[in-house]
Amino acid sequence: MIFEIEKLIKGPLFNCQNCGQCILTHTRLICPMNCPKGLRNGPCGGTLDGKCEVIPDRDCVWMRIDTRRGIDSKTVHLPPDKELFDTASYVNFFTGRDRETRLPQPVVDNGHVAATSRLAEKMYRGEFVVTLEIASPRTKSGLDRVERTMSRVAGQVDAVNTTTNAGGVPSLSSIETAEVVRNHGVESVIQFCGRDQTEEQFLDEVDQAVSIGHQNFLFLTGDWLPDTARAVNQETWFPMDSLQMIHAVNRQLPQYRDRRGIVPFIGCASNPFSTPMEVSVQRLHNKRHAGARFSQTQAITNAETYARWYGELRRGREQEPRLTIPSVPLVGSRRAFEILCRLPGVYVDPSLRKVMELSDFQRPALDWAFEISEGVTRNGAAGVHAMNFGMPPDLIRAFLDEIRDRAITARTGAGL
Ligand code: SF4
Repeated sequence: MIFEIEKLIKGPLFNCQNCGQCILTHTRLICPMNCPKGLRNGPCGGTLDGKCEVIPDRDCVWMRIDTRRGIDSKTVHLPPDKELFDTASYVNFFTGRDRETRLPQPVVDNGHVAATSRLAEKMYRGEFVVTLEIASPRTKSGLDRVERTMSRVAGQVDAVNTTTNAGGVPSLSSIETAEVVRNHGVESVIQFCGRDQTEEQFLDEVDQAVSIGHQNFLFLTGDWLPDTARAVNQETWFPMDSLQMIHAVNRQLPQYRDRRGIVPFIGCASNPFSTPMEVSVQRLHNKRHAGARFSQTQAITNAETYARWYGELRRGREQEPRLTIPSVPLVGSRRAFEILCRLPGVYVDPSLRKVMELSDFQRPALDWAFEISEGVTRNGAAGVHAMNFGMPPDLIRAFLDEIRDRAITARTGAGL
């Protein structure tokens, strides 16, 4: 009865989605559950010109909230309790059932608990790092491909990101792929998406990875699942967002250290091209306060924009260690280039489009990637993350062979 009355009032007034743990008072009366992903700590990194990455003809709900309230960067809303969906939030308020998930929770400062990985040590020492991304194969037989790639690149990279269900396409888990990486003496950066699991399942997986010695992690909200209708309802909401994942692991760092002798190095994603830029910067500060120690960016196709974004990010923190690794796309096929152009939140600069118009574009695309890498390095990048978009193995190898020396020269030239 109370639920029905609440629906009658809050439906037309706020487009209420009946989560039963109402946070309207923290979002200046804009219902965040109208985000297709159901983010309670938005926006995601896919907003361009304030539009939603899932339903591009709509404004991103979180842009409207942010412009009206300013983000409290030291709190986080926990994942909503599914048990409370379609129940009366007024009742839950008075019984206290919604307390944990309704009220913003303070983040935990565990900055004094030092991460234990080699990657973390190198980055805190200010050494230039090189990482590479390898998508997990769909089946076990695909691990041979990972094996072959690792045999070629093991000596050139500081760590390899392993993904799960990249782009929403089902695959082996990132932990399985990370095992192949580790067999070559290289550290992994294991990626997890909030889209794929509940908090309990997520923490179990992280614990499993830590228990077998993995130390670097990257937590992302995740992209929309392909072939899934673009809509807003309780079925489409992701179980967790990146901020909630970072917070959940960060608050357990002392326990990981005491139980496993490992302190996970927590990473997050960031997008310098998401607009407006100040929201993207603020969002990364939120993640930093929640426990993210390093970030890897969305594909960078224009070094000047990166420089402006990074300058904003570092304002007032110029003396702190540099912990941002921009991603540089290695584009070696037209089909893969089309995929890059379709990725949510990715800006593709005309300079890359021009290269892709050449009849023989692979070597020029590699030279373009070197230029971008040197540009971001001159502007404070901690390293470079190579993202492969169809580049043949010998050219990937050529990139990895040269990039460190080029970056060191670029740093020296910029007086860094
Ligand atoms: S999916 Fe991303 S862009 Fe769309 S409303 Fe949610 S936070 Fe905003």
